[in-house]
Amino acid sequence: MKVYGGIRFGGTITIEDAFDKLGFDHIAIAAGAGTPTIVRMKNNLIRGIRKASDFLMALQLTGAFKKSSMANLQVRLPAVVIGGGLTAIDTATELFAYYPVQVSKILERYEELVAQTLLSWGRRTDRSVCPTLARRLDKEELLILDEFLEHGRAIRARTGRRAATTGEQPNFIPLVRSWGGVTIAYRKSLQDSPAYRLNHEEVIKAFEEGIAYAESLSPVEAVPDEFGHVKSLLFEKQIVEDGRWKDSGQVVDLPARSVMVAAGTSPNVIYEKEHPGTFKLDKWKQFFQAYAVSVERTGALACRITTDRRGACPPT
Ligand SMILES: Cc1cc2nc3c(=O)[nH]c(=O)nc-3n(C[C@H](O)[C@H](O)[C@H](O)COP(=O)(O)OP(=O)(O)OC[C@H]3O[C@@H](n4cnc5c(N)ncnc54)[C@H](O)[C@@H]3O)c2cc1C
Repeated sequence: MKVYGGIRFGGTITIEDAFDKLGFDHIAIAAGAGTPTIVRMKNNLIRGIRKASDFLMALQLTGAFKKSSMANLQVRLPAVVIGGGLTAIDTATELFAYYPVQVSKILERYEELVAQTLLSWGRRTDRSVCPTLARRLDKEELLILDEFLEHGRAIRARTGRRAATTGEQPNFIPLVRSWGGVTIAYRKSLQDSPAYRLNHEEVIKAFEEGIAYAESLSPVEAVPDEFGHVKSLLFEKQIVEDGRWKDSGQVVDLPARSVMVAAGTSPNVIYEKEHPGTFKLDKWKQFFQAYAVSVERTGALACRITTDRRGACPPT
């Protein structure tokens, strides 16, 4: 087997190149399912809102959770994760765990900066933001820094006390919750959610780690603050009538300074979009058309189009 990097299927190499020029007989497409679903919500892209996959990749790839990392992955509380799948659970628990790390790092760096370069202000780092530094920040940045420093000090106080007395890992859940915590907002009930149906143990663990869950909420609008950053989310409460989920007309307002959207992804069908007519897509033009093969009574194989998007063969 040979592996070549830096090759983009559809760009560097087309199907014609592979078959006609390079002598390949077979192509297997394993290009993933990374296209995030965009939820229909007013002010969908204001500051503070990002896709869950973007947050998780930024967290893992930049190593933002490491003390040594200078990554600027900023999250604020309260945080809301929209979605009901395992990505929502993952995002919520990672966010919950990352927040204390983030504010502790900010506090340490801030103190270092003040100690090394802003000596004129002295060592009064227990007070609000140093005036020399404050002059370089705008109103919003100052507000956020103040918030992070206060939270960083609270985390440090808890870490110090615990480590000194018992040596146990400190429990940050009450603190993170007192700052608004992390809530998963799902449009149906918990039992309906893919996360619960696929892996209820992971949901239980998320609750143990301090995550809150708000059921039957469908996002409608992100409300910006005076700086254009998200401050809350409006949801429409969903109800079940005649066995179907529908809007109730009741609007629920959840405070949210970070919003992560984990509303699912679609398969990567970009080749067909860039080279139309190459592949057959399903009727929604979202997935590759799935086919099911069955064995006829005669023993011959029959292939027919299926609407089963998982590509599973329906029972014959
Ligand atoms: C939040 C999250 C948590 C998960 N946790 C787990 C877990 O704990 N355990 C587990 O088993 N699974 C987990 N999964 C699922 C797992 O990540 C996926 O099932 C797996 O990565 C799918 O592999 P893949 O090769 O099909 O696609 P991908 O991993 O998406 O790989 C596709 C590759 O194709 C490349 N590509 C795309 N387009 C082109 C092109 N045109 N030309 C060339 N290359 C291209 C992409 O750059 C990418 O490298 C998780 C998924 C998510 C989102």
